[in-house]
Amino acid sequence: MNIDVLTIFPDMFKGPMETSIIGRAQGKGIVSIQTHDVRNYTDNKHRRVDDTPFGGGAGMVMMAQPFFDALEEILDVKAGERAPDTRVVLLTPQGKTFNQAKARELAQIPRLIMLCGRYEGIDDRVRQVWVDEELSIGDYVLTGGELAAMVIIDAVVRLLPGALGDETSAEEESFSDGLLEYPQFTKPAQFRGIEVPPILLSGHHESIRRWRRKESLKRTYQVRPELIKEQNFDFDDQVLMAE
Ligand code: SAM
Repeated sequence: MNIDVLTIFPDMFKGPMETSIIGRAQGKGIVSIQTHDVRNYTDNKHRRVDDTPFGGGAGMVMMAQPFFDALEEILDVKAGERAPDTRVVLLTPQGKTFNQAKARELAQIPRLIMLCGRYEGIDDRVRQVWVDEELSIGDYVLTGGELAAMVIIDAVVRLLPGALGDETSAEEESFSDGLLEYPQFTKPAQFRGIEVPPILLSGHHESIRRWRRKESLKRTYQVRPELIKEQNFDFDDQVLMAE
């Protein structure tokens, strides 16, 4: 997979994108993440990327020109044309809220282009001409799209085949089956007087599976009951919930 990020702060990506699972995934050639400094595409000698908003009001708006030029060069298409196998994503608080289902969908796309806004955002003509999808990471306003892009990249890259050491671990995580994950414990079995649930030490795989499923249902019901409503439960789950 290839991910291109358009930003005026490419240095923000250096540590996070080179560390741990994402860094290793890049090293293994599973993903390539390129940042592009939007200032390199300005057509003014001061490398200005922003200007005052038409109609007045507070703040500055990022100009369309550097984004148009950057996208034409990076995608090698003219404005209005679509690059094959590519999705152009605008990070914006006005977008659809990103979630695990969207992460799974994006993980199937060969090339992602992520546009990071700053100030009051990007001139809307960039959205009109180039953007396939607008994504938000939650109902709050960040200073820029960079952290949002990194959140999405992190969630997507760990789903790519081979990115995690243990292929099954992404399949069992929270949201993978629509529920929150069961509680996890590690050694020692007793810590400061608190014991690990004995069933986890029993070695009975089916009993452990059922205990985990029940805890998963319980935790989801307590913390995120709206997720439970979206589920179609089989007979086994209904028995566990009734226990
Ligand atoms: N004036 C904009 C508005 O009210 O919708 C907010 C601009 S915000 C200060 C600057 C940039 O941060 C946005 O252009 C966007 O790229 C990014 N951003 C802010 N909040 C975000 C969120 N919740 N999800 C994704 N990107 C966000």
